[in-house]
Amino acid sequence: MAITKVWVEDECTICGVCEDLCPEVFSMGEETTTIMEGADFEANDDCIREAADNCPVEIIKFEVED
Ligand code: SF4
Repeated sequence: MAITKVWVEDECTICGVCEDLCPEVFSMGEETTTIMEGADFEANDDCIREAADNCPVEIIKFEVED
């Protein structure tokens, strides 16, 4: 199932885990992490899931299409 949407909910601690695991999708900002514009979710499917699994506050969410 392909990932069609990725987002980060509130309370990001800017720990850097997601950016380390998946730098083409996640970008740490001053107050939160953002999703990079134009990010290729298909090419980065594995690392998006890995980042979501490893986010210490479990705020990385994604949608998949059937
Ligand atoms: S892993 Fe989670 S808490 Fe850490 S920077 Fe990414 S979204 Fe924020």
